[in-house]
Amino acid sequence: MRAPSAQTSEADVVAGLRAVFDDGRTLPLEWRRRQLNGLQRLVTQRERDLAAAVKADLGRDAMTTFLADIGPVRAEIGHSLRSLSRWASPRRVRVPVALRPGRAAVEPRPKGIVLVIGAWNFPILLTLQPLVSALAAGNVVALKPSELAPETAAVLERLLPAYVDAEAVRVVTGGAEVSTTLLAERFDHIFFTGSTRVGRIVAEAAALHLTPTTLELGGKSPVIVAADADLDVAARRIAWAKCVNTGQACLAPDYILVEAPVRDAFRTRLVEALRGAAAAQPGRIVDRRQFDRLAGLLRDSGGEVVGGAVDEAALRMGPAVVVDPAPNSRLMQDEIFGPILPVVTVPSVDEAVRFVRQRPDPLALYVFTEFSATADAVLAATTSGTAAVNHLLQQLLVPDLPFGGVGPSGMGAYHGRVGFDTFSHLRGVLRRPTTPDPSIAYPPYGPATRRLLRRFLG
Ligand code: NAD
Repeated sequence: MRAPSAQTSEADVVAGLRAVFDDGRTLPLEWRRRQLNGLQRLVTQRERDLAAAVKADLGRDAMTTFLADIGPVRAEIGHSLRSLSRWASPRRVRVPVALRPGRAAVEPRPKGIVLVIGAWNFPILLTLQPLVSALAAGNVVALKPSELAPETAAVLERLLPAYVDAEAVRVVTGGAEVSTTLLAERFDHIFFTGSTRVGRIVAEAAALHLTPTTLELGGKSPVIVAADADLDVAARRIAWAKCVNTGQACLAPDYILVEAPVRDAFRTRLVEALRGAAAAQPGRIVDRRQFDRLAGLLRDSGGEVVGGAVDEAALRMGPAVVVDPAPNSRLMQDEIFGPILPVVTVPSVDEAVRFVRQRPDPLALYVFTEFSATADAVLAATTSGTAAVNHLLQQLLVPDLPFGGVGPSGMGAYHGRVGFDTFSHLRGVLRRPTTPDPSIAYPPYGPATRRLLRRFLG
């Protein structure tokens, strides 16, 4: 909820940001480096405050917050500082013979005023990581953290102005009503992380101003476990990934397709591994509404449920494996976003691929196999935002791998150079000298010039 008085309106925030951008201060790389160094100090010096806020919001321990939120932000800042002058430099491209002498280059320009709307589940990562790329690219930013992680939103609002140019980065707190007011303003780029449903609302609002958007959305990310997979490692890694943030992660394995001959052996290992992983990564469901939704998914799954003990008062839910749920159950239709893991038996990897292809393209796809040919065949036959072979989530940590969705799981990407480019306009510039300026370059064209033009310009 927003404070009723003395609050600057969203329109004032945007007007203030535009004035700052127009004064040109964000263009020098020196200014951008100062912002990145400031952010690095913030996440280093204030790690405890940030982790405490996340713990209050999500019940997560500080180490998980370091690994999942703060560490990747620090890595992104370091990578951006090291790469900034290269990313921001003109990128020379070849000039065709007919246009010589001349030089051509892609020259990145900041887009201008960026709106970042974050989700609650990794409330530092999903706000600060896009902020790093937006500032590196020389933009000014309005940052709207999620109201479902209110302590983290408050700590960001309080601390950020002390570490970055407070006129160029404005934190606006509140829920959907604040987002709606912000979205009525004209931005030069909107970067949204959240549900596919709200992603559509954001895209509609952006269309009115023809504002480009990056939409980091959700979906059902499958894991294919082939009969030749190392089942111990697969179970341990899948269980770890599913228990990060109690399954409330966009990249979490949503469901597993396992080849029939190894189904029982795999299930036994998975149940065991989940028990250990959940105990080692305590956390809770974010709110009552999500808790009830998950309980409903479990109740109506139509499959055999193993685990899933709940403590309603504390909003805690143990990991549950659901073996062969009903294909038309909500569990198999909606993004789960919690500690429930359906295991669907398939006769073959080909059948698993068919299953995935019949559904919307997911944010991530995972395959466990000891044969690279099997992995290659799965990757060749499917599309997903990102993919990983024999591991999960870690594709997020490779600095220059684009991170984003495809189709209903999102559009656009960020991280590393792709993030810099997302927040830049890549202007194509041709520079030519005024001499020579031969008259044959202008019409009317004689027969010889026509031949030359056809040869060199077609
Ligand atoms: P959400 O869509 O409910 O909310 C996201 C943001 O949108 C919040 O800041 C919220 O205040 C704002 N919002 C809510 N309703 C709005 C409206 N009507 N108009 C404008 N803004 C509105 O999502 P969530 O519950 O915070 O996050 C969970 C979803 O996010 C899951 O689907 C998950 O997969 C997805 N997600 C995706 C990524 C990714 O990187 N692709 C990362 C994390 C979460």
